[in-house]
Amino acid sequence: MTVRTLQRVVPSVLSSDGAGVKLRRSLGASQALRHDPFLMLDEFGTDNPDDYIGGFPPHPHRGFETVTYMLDGHMQHKDHMGNTGDLGPGGVQWMSAGRGVIHSEMPQQAEGRMRGFQLWINLPAKEKMKPAAYRDIPAAEIPTAALENGGAAKVIAGILEQGAARTAGPIQGLSTEPLYFDLRLPPLVEFEAPVPAGHNAFLYVYEGQAAIGDQPLPNRAAGLLTDGDRVQLRAGHDGARLLLLAGKPLHEPVVQYGPFVMNTREEIERAVRDYQNGELTGG
Ligand code: FE
Repeated sequence: MTVRTLQRVVPSVLSSDGAGVKLRRSLGASQALRHDPFLMLDEFGTDNPDDYIGGFPPHPHRGFETVTYMLDGHMQHKDHMGNTGDLGPGGVQWMSAGRGVIHSEMPQQAEGRMRGFQLWINLPAKEKMKPAAYRDIPAAEIPTAALENGGAAKVIAGILEQGAARTAGPIQGLSTEPLYFDLRLPPLVEFEAPVPAGHNAFLYVYEGQAAIGDQPLPNRAAGLLTDGDRVQLRAGHDGARLLLLAGKPLHEPVVQYGPFVMNTREEIERAVRDYQNGELTGG
């Protein structure tokens, strides 16, 4: 048994995207800051509607998956296929752009708190041109597991094991075999769970404090972990809320141009051309 330790910290930087939405970007803040298969993690969180009201008007994606997890607030998405979905508190939208999606992500409120995360997960070369697909997963369909030492975890993707108890999230069977857990830990509680060896894993503390061994995890930063088959951490005096993410690395070349993530420069040029010609999504 090998317990994972903290290898590297990727702090979040204030950024803006879409029509001026203010957010904190850790992974993906530069193209060198990835954690295969994870390309980007944005945290948006504000009480000020000016920071989010513009939303994300229609824009394209090709070659990867976007996972939006709302903590507070409402976001509506619409795509080129005519799909519409409303993402509410605790809900998740899992979108596989495949060969192409053009969609908008717009806040459904003009006041109040908006808080959540958007994660980008790469697709393997052989799946980058598959048809686009998405799932809206309301909060009620995301299981909450009671943790062995106290606290709770929402299991969004993969399986959380606590002793003999297994909690399976609604997202299963993807090539990158992702784990996506949202942990809520009371003060000084220890959390421990298996994470498959070989997966790249990271933690993102968004409230309170937590530490791995004697290494504190900086708040609002991606704490990248060494390889191993278990994660152990401990919440600080105020408790902690954090994300635990892990995925099987693809070990493939990544060429990114904004919302297009492919394996070669030629494929990126084709994506840009397809978009300009109205052929991104395959018609
Ligand atoms: Fe998008």
